[in-house]
Amino acid sequence: MKVKIAIAGAGAMGCRFGFMLHEAGQDVLLIDGWAEHVSLIQKKGLRIILDSGEVNRYIPISLFSESKGEFDLIIIFSKSMQTEQVMRNCQHLISDKTYILTLQNGLGNIEIIEQYVPKNRLLAGVTTYATELIKAGIIQALGSGDTYMMSVDGNMSPDLISIVEAFNDANLNTKLSEDVFTSIWTKVAFNAALNPLCTLANNTVAFVGSYKEIKEVVTGIIDEILLVAQAEKVRLDRNEVMEMIFSVFDPSMSGHHLPSMLQDIQNGRKTEIDYLNGAIVQRAERYNISVPNNRLIYHLIKMLEENEVPTEV
Ligand code: NAD
Repeated sequence: MKVKIAIAGAGAMGCRFGFMLHEAGQDVLLIDGWAEHVSLIQKKGLRIILDSGEVNRYIPISLFSESKGEFDLIIIFSKSMQTEQVMRNCQHLISDKTYILTLQNGLGNIEIIEQYVPKNRLLAGVTTYATELIKAGIIQALGSGDTYMMSVDGNMSPDLISIVEAFNDANLNTKLSEDVFTSIWTKVAFNAALNPLCTLANNTVAFVGSYKEIKEVVTGIIDEILLVAQAEKVRLDRNEVMEMIFSVFDPSMSGHHLPSMLQDIQNGRKTEIDYLNGAIVQRAERYNISVPNNRLIYHLIKMLEENEVPTEV
């Protein structure tokens, strides 16, 4: 089935999903606010570095201010700290028939998007696809992955089934999630442990995994997240989270990967820490739960975000 799709936030993942859906014959519009990136893709096409080689595709793309049309589905693929702005910038594209899907990492995106669309039109999920934005107009698609999604109100409509079918036609390996909040929190726990640890160690996932006391460090973070999830009535499986984390420490898995949080710090950009460990700290305060490991990690990453080399010593 043909679905009219806009992708709001056409960075690494937005371009990757846009490319795959466009290849499968879907009607796709990429939307972004980065003028250089948008103009390059309009003039020269999007360059995609695949495991099998490089391809170039002319995929429709526009700036938020120039975007128009009516869409069956808008996928939000900005960083979490941009979600509010992105929703404001694409309000004119949302009709009462439009579904909004967030596959972003972190906690808090659903609450922001809910202000713009009713719960029965809000889809959420997670994806294990990994993509890097090399520079304006060029992405590198790393391997394959899986995608899980569900309507936030828990209802499985024929429209949702059509969207999942469209994703599967595009080889996006998509399944309906039995409990989307468990899927989201599992990925949050995974990212809240790995991303800041690699960022603070300034090194790869494999390096962090090779530290001899790594189990103690990871357990300290995850056990706090489990307490907060329990207070939020989200089912989170400790073994599943730990297995997910320890599986990627193997250098033959994604061990050599530098998480995007570390890349963000290296490039002087803000990170998604407020939506990972920061969101855990914020929720823990609501329930009077002590989360010292997550709190310290949150502050250390905030310090790195603000770090500027002094001009005079
Ligand atoms: P991204 O940083 O590549 O893009 C996000 C936005 O930032 C886009 O609007 C992009 O145009 C803009 N941007 C990026 N570099 C810029 C630059 N140099 N100058 C100006 N603007 C720039 O983000 P992403 O990696 O696609 O992540 C989107 C969401 O998906 C996040 O919530 C992320 O955690 C999640 N996610 C990412 C991956 C991944 O492998 N990248 C995997 C799963 C989930």
